[in-house]
Amino acid sequence: MADLIELGRHTTVLGGPDLGKYPSGNPLLVQGADSRVLIDSAVGVQLPEVDAVLLSHFHEDHTVGIGARPELPVQIHARDLAGVQTVEGFAAASGFPGEEYARELTEVFQHQGVAQAQPFADDAHWDLGGGVTITAVPLPGHTFGHSGFLIEPDGVFFTADVDLSSFGPFYGDVEASLTDTRESLARCSQVEAAHYATFHHKRVVEGRDELLRLLAAYADVLTRREQAVLDLLTEPRELDELVGQGIVYRPGKVPAYAVESERRMVARHLDELVLRGAVLHEDERYALM
Ligand SMILES: [Zn+2]
Ligand SMILES: [Zn+2]
Repeated sequence: MADLIELGRHTTVLGGPDLGKYPSGNPLLVQGADSRVLIDSAVGVQLPEVDAVLLSHFHEDHTVGIGARPELPVQIHARDLAGVQTVEGFAAASGFPGEEYARELTEVFQHQGVAQAQPFADDAHWDLGGGVTITAVPLPGHTFGHSGFLIEPDGVFFTADVDLSSFGPFYGDVEASLTDTRESLARCSQVEAAHYATFHHKRVVEGRDELLRLLAAYADVLTRREQAVLDLLTEPRELDELVGQGIVYRPGKVPAYAVESERRMVARHLDELVLRGAVLHEDERYALM
């Protein structure tokens, strides 16, 4: 059973177990005069009867049960379409291969391709009737097509996996970007809304002041990770020597599936530092300038 939290007259959070901590989440139900739309789905939240589904991105924890309902119209940002349509597309975009992880995807998330998914563009806008609208807000970085949604007239901004958790942003997929993540956090801070809904952890943040405070702390994690990279470069090191050293995950606490994603995240910090002229990349090794 989901915890139902009403945000305005048309928008309801379907709160998943544990405040929607991964592997669960907090989907949103939006009711217009003509149609009823679900934004994302989650483990532990029964799929409600809806006319259509909007997906914030292609990740397994947001598409639970959707592939098994081929009659249900589904839309996702064009850049995440291939990642959601087939299991092979998911593996290519996320970079999560391996049999053990594939088994977890099936068992925990009933993961499968959402073959009926159709693409939407950056400026997508949906009219649900009775003055209720949903507007896409592109927030790339976590995945290339990661999108938030603004629901009016309720003044609800769904920030998807900009989840404001203490872990911080995740940009460990093959199709992810640290630079885009930074820009998307800035973009989030500009959206005026009465309520901010995250898919994980916080669920609902009331008012923009509180959002800005939480966003600043969330962005600080990027600064902390970058400093951790610099601290490890007191002598020249190769990328592999920087993985498992606490930059993203606590040493000894890196989940098996996350070794590759930590490597990609660290590499993205190194790329930024090289571009900025703070770090030199030579003969496979990174060194402070
Ligand atoms: Zn995600
Ligand atoms: Zn998620």
